[in-house]
Amino acid sequence: MSRFFSEKFKDLTPYTPGEQPKDTKYIKLNTNESPFSPSPLALEYANEASKNLQLYSDPECRDLVRTASEYYGIDGEEILFTNGSDEILNFAFSAFCDKNTPAVFADITYGFYPVFASVNNVPYREIRLNDDFTVNTDDYIGVNGTVFIANPNAPTGIALSLEEIEKIVRGNPGNVVVVDEAYVDFGAESSVRLIKKYDNLLVTQTFSKSRSMAGARLGFGMGNRALIRDLNTVKYSTNPYNINRMTMTAGIGAIKDEKYFKDNCEKIIFNRSMTTEKLKSLGFTVLNSCANFVFAKHSKLSGEQLYLKLKEKGILVRHFNKERISDFIRITVGDYGQMQIFTDAVSKILEEVQ
Ligand code: PMP
Repeated sequence: MSRFFSEKFKDLTPYTPGEQPKDTKYIKLNTNESPFSPSPLALEYANEASKNLQLYSDPECRDLVRTASEYYGIDGEEILFTNGSDEILNFAFSAFCDKNTPAVFADITYGFYPVFASVNNVPYREIRLNDDFTVNTDDYIGVNGTVFIANPNAPTGIALSLEEIEKIVRGNPGNVVVVDEAYVDFGAESSVRLIKKYDNLLVTQTFSKSRSMAGARLGFGMGNRALIRDLNTVKYSTNPYNINRMTMTAGIGAIKDEKYFKDNCEKIIFNRSMTTEKLKSLGFTVLNSCANFVFAKHSKLSGEQLYLKLKEKGILVRHFNKERISDFIRITVGDYGQMQIFTDAVSKILEEVQ
């Protein structure tokens, strides 16, 4: 820390992203990226847009907003694009929490939430998940804070139904409920259809996972227009040109290429069940995932041992050194070949410890 670092950030512990090794020798199943390239149409549009990089991008993202709002069946004023969904989540902590309105989220959830709270200097409260890592929706009624709920949850992959989400939104009429749907396309139901019914619901999604664009950084939020206006106030006070030209047009291409998107989601869902079945047959406990990853543990090896042994074999998965989940590893679902290599490696590791 330099002697110039602001007093307000002195105690900040930044978020630790998953490893991004420079060499390609690893099979990367650690950061929930897509194993598939972006849609060819997205790439074609990005290439075209690159010819005008001397010009600022459209701060209102008009073409992308038009395409996306038609696709999701909402109005243009009900959607806001950001630099990855991390940015809209950060905006939401900034816009809808303060010292009297804490952030409220599960004890086991996306590890960035406490960091967003700290960087925005707002208090937060954690609600303990049930022992099987499911949410007890009754715990989320009248919480007197801004609720952040990942659906499906990370790193468990467990999803709530639309009815359960609606119960939470209805149960907090005086507060915003943010539903982080980063993984929704892999098997959960989106709550976007509720945004016209409830003025306190913000739904966030991303192009990083199901649309294979993690490196382009494109996320968005959908909600009542007053909420979106508040978030725009934050955006225009920090970085009005937050989406670059190539990403913006690539996003349009990705939405238009519906078949490519659907086919890839289906492949991931298929590979997820194949991986889950194989892990269970090897004696793993595997949570019921609706996302593009599985969360699993084995009685013979700790999460850290599994992580290290897989790394030795050239496979990267994610291990969280955190209470309640340190026995688990989170495995991103890759393509069929990657998952075969992964399950073969796990079988060998278990043979070695028998
Ligand atoms: N929400 C959850 C639950 C996530 O796991 C992630 C990915 N790390 C994000 C949001 C943010 O993803 P991105 O900024 O790439 O959209």
